[in-house]
This record gives sequence, C-alpha cells and structure tokens, in this order.
Amino acid sequence: MNRVKLVAITGTNASHSFNRLLLNFMKRHFAEAADIEVCNIADVPMFNEDVPEQDPEPVTRLSRQIVAADGVIIGCPEHNHSVPSALKSVLEWLSYRQHPLNGKPVMIVGASYHPQGSSRAQIHLRQILDSPGVSARVLPGNEFLLGGVKDAFDDQGELVDPGTITFLEQCFADFIDFVRLEQGREQSSVLESAGRTKGLQPTGYSSQPEPASTIKGDQEMVQSHAVHWDATYDVVVLGFGGAGATAARFAADDGATVLLVDSAPEGHEGGNTRVSGQLVCYGDDEEKLRAYYRAQLGPMDLDEAIVDTYVEGMAGMKSYFRQYLDVEPVSSKQLLGADFGMFPEYPEFEGGDCIDLLLVHEGFFDGALWKILHQKVADRADAIDVWYRSPARHLIKADDGRTIAGVQIEREHVLRNIRALNGVVLATGGFENNRRMIQDYLGAPRLAPAGSLFNKGAGVDLAIEAGADLWHMANYESLGLQHGLTFAVPDGERGPLLVFGYDDLATGSLLTVGDDGSRYFREDETNRHGHIFDHGIWRVPPAQAHPHLIFDQEKHDEIVHGEHPEVLDRAVQADTAEQLAELIGADPQTLAKTIERFNSFVQQGTDYEFGRDPETMRAFDQGPYYAIAMLQGMLNTQGGPRRNSRAEILDPDGCPIGHLYGAGELGGVCAGVYQGGQNIAECLIFGKIAGQNAAVPKQQSGVQASRQDDVAPAMVATNTGQTLGSFKSDLAQSQADIPLGPGQFIGRSKAGMGAEITVRVTVDDDRKLRDIEIISQSETGDVAGEALQKLPAQMVARDSADVDVISGATVSSNALKAAVADALRQVPGR
Ligand SMILES: Cc1cc2nc3c(=O)[nH]c(=O)nc-3n(C[C@H](O)[C@H](O)[C@H](O)COP(=O)(O)OP(=O)(O)OC[C@H]3O[C@@H](n4cnc5c(N)ncnc54)[C@H](O)[C@@H]3O)c2cc1C
Repeated sequence: MNRVKLVAITGTNASHSFNRLLLNFMKRHFAEAADIEVCNIADVPMFNEDVPEQDPEPVTRLSRQIVAADGVIIGCPEHNHSVPSALKSVLEWLSYRQHPLNGKPVMIVGASYHPQGSSRAQIHLRQILDSPGVSARVLPGNEFLLGGVKDAFDDQGELVDPGTITFLEQCFADFIDFVRLEQGREQSSVLESAGRTKGLQPTGYSSQPEPASTIKGDQEMVQSHAVHWDATYDVVVLGFGGAGATAARFAADDGATVLLVDSAPEGHEGGNTRVSGQLVCYGDDEEKLRAYYRAQLGPMDLDEAIVDTYVEGMAGMKSYFRQYLDVEPVSSKQLLGADFGMFPEYPEFEGGDCIDLLLVHEGFFDGALWKILHQKVADRADAIDVWYRSPARHLIKADDGRTIAGVQIEREHVLRNIRALNGVVLATGGFENNRRMIQDYLGAPRLAPAGSLFNKGAGVDLAIEAGADLWHMANYESLGLQHGLTFAVPDGERGPLLVFGYDDLATGSLLTVGDDGSRYFREDETNRHGHIFDHGIWRVPPAQAHPHLIFDQEKHDEIVHGEHPEVLDRAVQADTAEQLAELIGADPQTLAKTIERFNSFVQQGTDYEFGRDPETMRAFDQGPYYAIAMLQGMLNTQGGPRRNSRAEILDPDGCPIGHLYGAGELGGVCAGVYQGGQNIAECLIFGKIAGQNAAVPKQQSGVQASRQDDVAPAMVATNTGQTLGSFKSDLAQSQADIPLGPGQFIGRSKAGMGAEITVRVTVDDDRKLRDIEIISQSETGDVAGEALQKLPAQMVARDSADVDVISGATVSSNALKAAVADALRQVPGR
C-alpha cells in the first residue's frame, strides 16, 4: 500500500516550540508509514481582509502543500485556554480565498507545559476546523494530549515515555486508517492533475455519493456523481472581458443558458478590453490581409485553419460591427492619417496597405467598444447570469477524465460547483499580474502592467489542470517610452502609459541603461508594441530588473520646460556618474564608461554600439547627472492554452479536451509579431466561435443536454431572474434607493470608464449648486482619482458642471460632469 503524504503544521510562530519537537518526532518515528513534511508558519503575516487580491506567498505555498497532501497534522499549543493567534490567523487565510482544508483529513496533537496537554485549545481547534469555510474532516475519537512537555523529550528530541509512544502510535494508526477511508470515499471527479485539487471537496460535499445522474445517450459518460452541484447552466464563461462577453452573448443567442463570471467587482470587470484603445484590426482586401498576416507569423508555424478563420474574421470586421454591434465602423486610418505608424505597423510586409483599425465612434481609450459588448450581455439578462467578484478556481472533469463537466467558482468566499452541460469557455485574459508566470514564461524579473490588475493567469492554471497544451507563452505586447518603458511602480500597481508628450525623454544627452549601467538597446528605435529591430527580427528586448534613464544638467533643464516637467520628481541626482551609479545600484565604472563612450560616439558622429541616429545624440556635460528609475511595461500577454479554429482547447496530442473552449488573449493566436488591433479582433472572432460551439448540445458525446433531469430542481439556476440566495445574477441587482433631502437631486452617467457614476447634488433656495456627493463610481483609481477629488469643488465654486477636465482623466472627468449636469437638469426653474 502507498505511503501517505502528510503536512504537519506547528501551530505557533515561536522559534522554539515543543509542538514542533513533537511533530519532528512523529516525522522520524513514522517514516516508514508516511512522508511527513513539517511546516513553519512564522512567515505567514497576520490575516487581513484589506490585502490585495492575491494571498501572500507563504499562504499560497502552504495551501499548495496541503492540497498536495493526503492529510494534515496540526501540533496545537494552548494560549489562554485557546489556540494561538498565529494558528488562528493561518486558518483564516486558509479559508478566505483558498480552501485547501476543505474535506482534508486532519489529526490534532498538542503539547503543553501543564497536565491538560492543550485539551481546551484542541476543542476550540476542532470547532474552527468544522466551520463552513474550513470544512476539514477531523479524526474523531482520538485526542493526543502531551502534558508536562518539559520532561517529555530527551536531548535528541525523542519521547521518553514508552506508554506515551504506544498511545501516539495507536492514534497515528487510527489516523492513517481514517485517511485511507477518506481516500476510498473520495470518488470525486474534481481534477487530480498535478495533485493540485486532489481532495479538495466542494462545500456541500456529501459523504454519501449522490445518485448517479440520469444519462441519456452514452452511458459510459458517467457524471461526476460525488460532486454536489450548486447550480447548472448550459455554458459557463470564465472572464467578463471582450472575449467572455462575446462568447456569452453568442452562446445565449444560440439558446444556451449562460453563467458569466468575473473575479473583479462590478465596474472593474472588462479586463484589458475596458482600458484598451478600442481599436479593432480590419483589412479591406482578404488576400492582402492573408499575406500580411503570414508575414507577421514570420518563421513561426500556425495551423492553416486558424489563419483562415482569423483572416476571414478580420476581413469581415466591418460587417461584424454593423450586424452584431449595431454601429457604423469608424476608420482610425482616416481619423489619424495613413502615416500614423499603425496602418500597418509593419509597412515592409506584403499586403500591409490594406490594414485599418476600426472604432465604434470617433474616440479612443474611452471604453466605447467595451460598453457595447457589456450592453449586449445586459440585453440578454434572461439568458445570461453574471457574477462579479467570483473567480473561477478549478475545473471539474467528468468521470471519463477527458470532458469538462463544470467549474468550481468562489462566490462570497465559498467554493460553488457549477455544472456546465455543454461547455466551459476560458476567457480569463492573460498573466500580466502574475510574477511567477512572468518569470517562468517571459524570462523577465518583473513587468509593469498597463491594463487590468485582475488578469493573474488563472486561465493558464485552469488549462494546465485540464491537461491542455500551452502555446505562445513567450509573446507579450508593450507600449510606451522608447521600447515600452514606464516609470518604476511598486509591485501590484499599474505603470503609466508614456505615449504622448514624452519625446524629449528619448533624445539629446540622455541614454537608457540596464542593471549594470550599460546601454542595452538603441534608444531612438521605432517601437512596435514594444518590439524593436534586433538582428533582423522584431522583438521586445530582454527586460532589465531596474533600468534607468540617465541624463545631464542640460537635458534636465530641457525637461523643466517640456510637456512633462513632473517626471523630474522621480529623478535622483549626483555630481558624478560614479556617485549616480551608487544611488541606482549600477556598477560605477560601467556607468562612467557608458557615458564616456556615448560622448565619444557623439564626437565621431556614429553610435558604434547600437546605431542610434547621431542627430538624436548630444554629449553629456560635466554634471550633475540624473537618473529616473524605469520598468519594462506590458500591455498584455498572448500565451495560454492551445486552441484550434473551432476555439476548442487542445491537449498535447492535438485532441480537443471535451467541452472546453477558449478565446481572447488567453492562448491568443499571435505566434509571431503583433499588429495593433488584432487582440480585440481576436476576442470578437474567437469569442463568437467559442460561444457558439460551447452552446451546441452535446448529445453525441454522451453528455446529455437536458439539465432538468439530473439535478434537484432547487439547485438549478433557472435564469429567470429568481433569487437563488447568492446565485442571483449581479446584473439583475436593483439600484438601492438613495435618500434625498430638500434641494437634493440624483444624477447619473454611464460615460466613464467604469460602471455608472451616481451623484447627489444639493442646491440652495436660490437653486445654486452647493454640494456634490459621489454616491457610486468605479473609475480606475490611479487615473481618475484626481478628477473625482478636485472637480466637485470646482463645479460648486462655478455653480456649473462646465469646468475643465483633468488632464489624463478626460473620460472620467466628462462622465462626472455629465452626472452632475443630469442632476442639475432636474432642478425646477434652473
Ligand atoms: C492599455 C491597453 C491598450 C490596448 N489597446 C488595444 C487596442 O486598441 N486594440 C487591441 O486589439 N488590443 C488592445 N490591447 C490588448 C487588448 O485590450 C487585450 O488583449 C484584450 O482586450 C483581451 O481581452 P480578453 O477578453 O481576452 O481579456 P480581458 O479583457 O483582459 O478580460 C479578462 C477578464 O477575466 C477576468 N478574470 C481573470 N481571472 C479570472 C478568474 N479566475 N475567474 C473569473 N474571471 C477572471 C478579469 O477580471 C477580466 O475581466 C490593449 C491592452 C492594454 C492594456
């Protein structure tokens, strides 16, 4: 029989612990029966709900260890008649976003100085482990209490009393039996790949397997009968961005009931699609477009059927806008002029003159296309339920091991098992905010995201769970200063897009250095979504951990009088290059030589290192010198699960994984270089295909399509707008009544980047504007914060909604103005 794998948690963060001694004794003593890994919780921070979206790394690490183990032993000290706060804090983390103890066999042991041997703490611990968010399975009928612990061990950490050892052996044997019993019962079809979800039982898991579902058709395709389904839909779409919104809408149009979930709160769903330029790639000649797209692929291979589907889709984009978005497409080529640098981005490629980028109106970066996609979902509220703040955590496989039967979705901190009869669509965007994946797949230490902070690579993990093949993992797009640099921002924050008005940060007595203080690329190189020309190929240069702009006093003075003098707030200054290098963590001699060499290139009129145009170079003066910390920015990743032209996700043998589909930048089709507008084009084209194929009833594969037959009616989400506890669609939520006093009026506007902005304005007896309260808004904080803070006071001072917008937050400013104007229109006689 296999040895069991156990995780042993010492329930204290103290450096010396008798409980750790006890667990280490068990590790040695039971080494033949079990692999026991003793874990330390000293590095787990105090639980706090205010933390960013991602759990601290020690929590995730511990959670993974538990998930991969067959059982857990907790060595529990007793403090003030209860469990130590450090242990309680760990259990709070482990029942917040991640629920690794759910259904996990647990044995409690405890050592204490006093004769009770931690008995009171153990009772509390049992209650905590039994709580709904934790839902562990604690070994019943056994208590191992080690009192008088100071004398219990010898110098080698061995228990000295043979009777105690015998009793511990008996308890441990019972626990091993308990673990095996639980394993035997664990007929769950929750994916076991990589041990990630093994043993992870959903809330409501029944120790008695539910009766097997009534299956029509192929009886081999037995449903996952140990999973308690919380709700059933025809199609479940993960990610409410451009691809997910499109997939959900087209699935609904083909008759499917759809659940569309997003990890972000309302107003922040929409991912990168919401914040994007809203440009969609189009080609007015299909053959030219095909030639251009093939040239983009360069030496990379891509399935012919995908090329055809994608090219045909882009060639048909004008009709798509008219037929499915109900708008007349606007040509950005006409708006910006053909020589703008995007039409095409690669003018040397054959066929590029056919490229245009379509808009839904004459505006960029204003969420206009996103709002239409969102509205198309809202228009179908009878068929599509939407859940915000509900991240998909795991896929659930049918018992055939190949077909995806549903998804585990976390809703209000509880894992819900949602059955998807006909298909699951992965559209969770990229891994722009997942440092581990950025390091593993892009080989970069850290990149600064420009878009959604909610794209954390969940779809990559889900795809791996499902056994999918991955592709295009090393591709990503960038934009900004020089080759796509942004200012250094703390981890977890967005980097500003330095695209307009920053030209003087690439010319004159200014250069860019990598970590050691040497230049690593040509500063004046054309930037094509972060790619610069490199030995015959366009690629994003390898990211440095802490690149810096370096400049002299003359450049400093130019910046003072330039468009963005505020960037100098970020600069550090030193008298010499060597001193500057010390300040920025570069090598002093290297930086000094870099400036020296740069000056000699200026003198010689040739940049022998990178070929920068001498016209853009000016020799550095005698100082002082300045440095600004930068970071490689990133728009979006392209990697994820491999898919075919039917948007089916493929395994490494190229076979579709049953009922699993993908769309959008998660596993996007960009195999070579990228032409702007192609990501959203892909969302529209493959989102539609994914939604339609996911909606197809799947009788032929043996999974029957009639959901009413096999799930108790109370558990079926009916999409009729009925309240099913926490299963109510968030789209159907009615707006709460806002109390109004005398002279108060409500104004609303949907013109912002987020959901509706609602304001309550107060006017005095003379109908003059006296106060503006922002009741609700979900504008992007780092962009819109200043506008939302300053404009109300300005409007009150002017007694008008007509004030200047805040630069850099035009869309949010205008939306706030529109909401206030809306309220003022309702003031009688004003
Ligand atoms: C600043 C900027 C400008 C851009 N401009 C353009 C442009 O003009 N044209 C163009 O073609 N491309 C552009 N791009 C790229 C383009 O916006 C994206 O590639 C595209 O919008 C991706 O769409 P998507 O639906 O695949 O992902 P997203 O729109 O990012 O949506 C993914 C959604 O999944 C959600 N999610 C993540 N994890 C989970 C989970 N576990 N469970 C549930 N939901 C989850 C996220 O919250 C998000 O809402 C731009 C990108 C940026 C950042």
